[in-house]
Amino acid sequence: MVKFLDLVKQYDTIRPEMDAAIARVIENSSFIGGKEVANFETHFARYQDAEFCVGVGNGTDALEIAIEVLDLPANSEIVVPANSFIASAEAVTRSGHSVVFCDSDPHTHLIDIEDCARSISPKTAAIMAVHLYGQPAPMRDILALAQKHDLRVIEDAAQAHGAEIDGKRIGGVGDIGTFSFYPGKNLGAYGDGGAIVTNDAGLAKRSRMIANHGRVDKYDHEFEGRNSRLDGLQAAVLETKLRHLDAWIERRNAIAKVYHTKLSGIEALGLPVVADNVRHAYHLFVVSTKQRDELRKFLASVDIQTGIHYPVALPDLKAYDYLRQKTRTFAASDTADTLVSLPIGDHMTDADANRVADAITEFYA
Ligand SMILES: *Cc1c(COP(=O)(O)O)cnc(C)c1O
Repeated sequence: MVKFLDLVKQYDTIRPEMDAAIARVIENSSFIGGKEVANFETHFARYQDAEFCVGVGNGTDALEIAIEVLDLPANSEIVVPANSFIASAEAVTRSGHSVVFCDSDPHTHLIDIEDCARSISPKTAAIMAVHLYGQPAPMRDILALAQKHDLRVIEDAAQAHGAEIDGKRIGGVGDIGTFSFYPGKNLGAYGDGGAIVTNDAGLAKRSRMIANHGRVDKYDHEFEGRNSRLDGLQAAVLETKLRHLDAWIERRNAIAKVYHTKLSGIEALGLPVVADNVRHAYHLFVVSTKQRDELRKFLASVDIQTGIHYPVALPDLKAYDYLRQKTRTFAASDTADTLVSLPIGDHMTDADANRVADAITEFYA
């Protein structure tokens, strides 16, 4: 069986250090705030090439707080790519702003920069750059567009811990970046968790205050905030896993290489198109094919698990019926019917990857 995700197998490879880290938190009762959280924040900021990191409750909260802290004019428009997880758009609305969807490129599945430019109006205040599947969004183009129209750039890096563009880790490339530590992400907690990174001390300070009841000290509340904190147990889990993350990303890249090498000759299969100035974190390896359902069924029959990210483009979700962007079409709507995510992760050996590639080759033969 080639599993899509196997967190038990991962735990088995780090069991002694993970058990020690968890015991340490319980023995010190450092459940909320404290040394574990501060340590992880320092190390994760360094890992992402950013100056500041603020741990929060989850990746969706990280996005909401990141948008709030930018202090955009009320009811601004924020451009969000059509192919993403709903949180990228949800956070915009939850923060009192309006989502404007732009298309995703059918080959890279990242934001379609020309359509992004067309989606900008006088009310636009920011662009949501999603590093989807672990591949950095085209940041040079996004930043140029932002500069031209005086927009802020939020990086949704929930799927892209450790990814790089032009030799720099993503997250601190735009104004503010957000991460999710949902268990299945490349760096996953044993529960919910998230983080905000930025190089702006003011944004970092205010993000931390929003996430902790608007306070600087215990009962010193300067404004109304909320409660969204990374807890000590999750911080210790993440600190332990962070030491292995680069090796795990290399493993993902090795599997991707097997897929690229063995599957490039299959005309009916669209492989991920990767820019040459990036380090892809390969959270997901997404291929496209008109025979999506048949391929998934065949792979399931030979014990290979697959996924779909995402089965419906965001503008086509019932949740966005109210937007009435129905007068236009999105390439992402058609692409969604063709996407299939092959298994990839640190739980897989090269032999597993070869077995998947050979099964796919057999399917198309
Ligand atoms: C997972 C994910 C999020 C949300 O993170 P949670 O921790 O689950 O709230 C946001 N954006 C993208 C692109 C994601 O994949």
